[in-house]
Amino acid sequence: MSEESKRWNERLYIRDLADKVGQTHTLEGWVQFTRKSGKIRFLGLRDGSGTIQCVMVREEMESQQFDLFSQLKQETSIRLTGVVQPSDRSQFGVEILTQEIEILGTSNQYPITPKEHGVDFLLGNRHLWLRSKKQIAISQVRSIIIQAIRDFLFEFHFVQMDSPVLTRSVGEDPEGLFAIDYFDLGTVYLAQTGQLYLEASISAHGRVFCFGPTFRAEKSKTRRHLTEFWMLEAEMAFFDNDDNMDLEEDLIKFVIKRVLDRSEWYLKQLDRDVDKLRQCLDPFMRLSYSEAVEILQKKGSSVQWGEDLGAADETLLTEDSRVPAFVYDYPQAVKAFYMKRNDADPRTVKCADLIAPEGFGEIIGGSQREDSLELLAQRIKDENLPPENYEWYLDVRRYGTVVHSGFGLGLERLVGWICGIPHIREAIPFPRLMERVTP
Ligand code: ATP
Ligand code: MN
Repeated sequence: MSEESKRWNERLYIRDLADKVGQTHTLEGWVQFTRKSGKIRFLGLRDGSGTIQCVMVREEMESQQFDLFSQLKQETSIRLTGVVQPSDRSQFGVEILTQEIEILGTSNQYPITPKEHGVDFLLGNRHLWLRSKKQIAISQVRSIIIQAIRDFLFEFHFVQMDSPVLTRSVGEDPEGLFAIDYFDLGTVYLAQTGQLYLEASISAHGRVFCFGPTFRAEKSKTRRHLTEFWMLEAEMAFFDNDDNMDLEEDLIKFVIKRVLDRSEWYLKQLDRDVDKLRQCLDPFMRLSYSEAVEILQKKGSSVQWGEDLGAADETLLTEDSRVPAFVYDYPQAVKAFYMKRNDADPRTVKCADLIAPEGFGEIIGGSQREDSLELLAQRIKDENLPPENYEWYLDVRRYGTVVHSGFGLGLERLVGWICGIPHIREAIPFPRLMERVTP
């Protein structure tokens, strides 16, 4: 290492320059763009913390140094020293008047240019596409959202209980499982949910969550489905379905506030209408499944009571709403076996889906869980699920059963909605789709 090497936490980034006008500093990063205007040269330098415009003026530099400009191609890595100057249009209100440049790594014919590329090409070059302006914005917002979710949960005393990825039990749809050959124990599956493990954990900790990758062999090619996605799941003892919705609403509003607070620049890069997000700080809409079906039929949908609501129904239902909508108490037949029977109308279960506005569809599925040992054992039988896999799950009801509820929030659906991007494949760094597992 050279004598300039610093302790890692003393390293100076572009984001640190706002209050350093007049000082000379050295930055390291990648050339995002270059531009000439008369005798002046410009380059955009990106270092992970942000992007800054660096100006090169022949009179202000040694001519050999100035001539290096011709070698600066998109994504060349460089070390650059210069004087910090004020500038109104930039991310941090400053630019650099360049004094010295050193090329660290060349980059010739970088495949992703400012011209339009097809989405297949971009996905095939996802490892490079991630460096593009909009993709950086999405990744940054995703990271801010993840932190917000965790901050909220820890603030309210949730305990993180990581659930296994390799499982025997089936949580959701047996059709959508990825199977794996597991030593002498036969077939195991990649987890579709950690919920059953969280339910077991509430008796130890009261409020718990897990947040990790989830796998679904979805054979549909929609703009809302990945085969591997991240799900935040929370489970709370002594919460009924109404408490569950209240908590979800508060969590989503906390996330939106945080994003409005900390992601303004990135949402601007994405041309996101932030007023639409700000409106979602108003109370969410709540309507029962039966009411939803009635409204949908009036709007011309062919949906019949008893059928699940499809993506088109969700969009139609929320088209006039500026806020997210909870649809609660679905028919038992279209929901998972563990949802609590609704005594007021036993054809239905105590559950709620949260549907985002602007056509972004379902982002959360939640429910109160069946806490009666007899009813739950009967449901497992009725669904022809292998009873031996559920014995441990029934123990949660055998030994001190309590009213409890929980939900699963699809991170990419939330990121997609907040960023306003039409397909969730851009909401995860390396998307896994039915027809794509590389890079
Ligand atoms: P959908 O009907 O939209 O497929 P689901 O009812 O199967 O969703 P749940 O099992 O309730 O979804 O999962 C909880 C949440 O996980 C959903 O609300 C959604 O945000 C997210 N989710 C579910 N499946 C996927 C997927 N294949 N890709 C990305 N996110 C998903
Ligand atoms: Mn699904």
